[in-house]
Amino acid sequence: MLKVNSRIKEVLGSTTLAITARAKELKDQGADVVNFAAGEPDFDTPDYIKEAAVKAINGGFTKYTPSSGAEDLRVAICEKFKRDNKLDYKPNQIVVGCGAKHSIFNAVMVLCDAGEEVLIPAPYWVSYPEMVKIAGAKPVFIQTTKDAGFKITPQQLQAAINPRTKILILNSPSNPTGKIYSKKELEAIAEICVKHHVYVISDEIYEKLLYVDEPFVSIASLGKDIFDQTITVNGVSKAYAMTGWRIGYAAGPSEVMGYMKNLQDHSTSNPTSISQKATIAALKGSEAGITAMRDEFKARRDLMMSLVDKVPGVTYIKPDGAFYLFCDFSKFGLCADIAKRILNDVNVALIPGDGFGAEGWIRLTFSTSQERITEGITRIKAWIEKNGR
Ligand code: PMP
Ligand code: GLU
Repeated sequence: MLKVNSRIKEVLGSTTLAITARAKELKDQGADVVNFAAGEPDFDTPDYIKEAAVKAINGGFTKYTPSSGAEDLRVAICEKFKRDNKLDYKPNQIVVGCGAKHSIFNAVMVLCDAGEEVLIPAPYWVSYPEMVKIAGAKPVFIQTTKDAGFKITPQQLQAAINPRTKILILNSPSNPTGKIYSKKELEAIAEICVKHHVYVISDEIYEKLLYVDEPFVSIASLGKDIFDQTITVNGVSKAYAMTGWRIGYAAGPSEVMGYMKNLQDHSTSNPTSISQKATIAALKGSEAGITAMRDEFKARRDLMMSLVDKVPGVTYIKPDGAFYLFCDFSKFGLCADIAKRILNDVNVALIPGDGFGAEGWIRLTFSTSQERITEGITRIKAWIEKNGR
């Protein structure tokens, strides 16, 4: 019998990655697939970023860097935090990782001991509970409701905390709901976390994709106490269409960051040197490119909502950020079954909500052209009219 690590045995593969791969496979076989599954921008990485990478290659910046990232990149990240988030980090408080996923994973590994609890508001991004399980800790879900905008309330947070509680993972704007916590809501959460010494991992990867006028707020900016117990995570994948470059970063108390650096010393070492130079160009460049992408995402969101409005029996929660429309398909049965049938019958790839802790719901990514959005929702509507009870 195969004997593998008992914790790894319990870890589920990523639904988002699996369905995205299946959609690609069908497409490669010649099927006309509408991809509402992939959680990545469909835009190309802007030229000025690519040029910085080419320059790095030609200039021989192709060797190891410090495992927490080159000094000039960590300085650029500190400047970004200061400019965009009113956060005052020093370069020794930054660890650059191979994507925000890697940075969150390392933060969980460093902070958690076996048996400790990590609070995860549900619906959640698929990877959080699995990371916690790999660390030997216990994911504890706080179930939110559509009426509460899929956001936790201070009362729920307070009730979930016990002496074993170590971390709260916050994700605003959220994948999969697109909802955003307001400053006031974050203040209430921060107060409770400070009172009970609960660390916060704040996943801010969708920060630049906002469709509301309110400015984005980082929870760590709300006072010294919460600053000292927050790990702020961000990256370039979503804002700069750089998913394949694999650069994310974490910022937090220097002691915690020192342990995260040690973990990288013995696992990945530094993230790719070339991608690090590209990231400096991204962070220091003009924001015009990302604003244009954001505006197009907003137009796609509005189009997708207007089309889903006409699909009988399907409702959704209006996203204020990110690029996902989270839809309630519960009238039609189990979401995994529906998503599979829609993919097989009409070639539209969707992510069922069960992987996000939301049975009955299905995530539709609006990271494809307006033409394909129209085509995909037209197919879903026809499928529902034919198969919906
Ligand atoms: N957090 C959330 C909520 C995400 O949706 C993603 C997307 N993969 C990530 C983190 C990780 O992004 P990356 O590793 O590409 O930086
Ligand atoms: N985060 C994206 C998603 O939710 C990309 C896939 C992944 O890494 O999970 O689809």
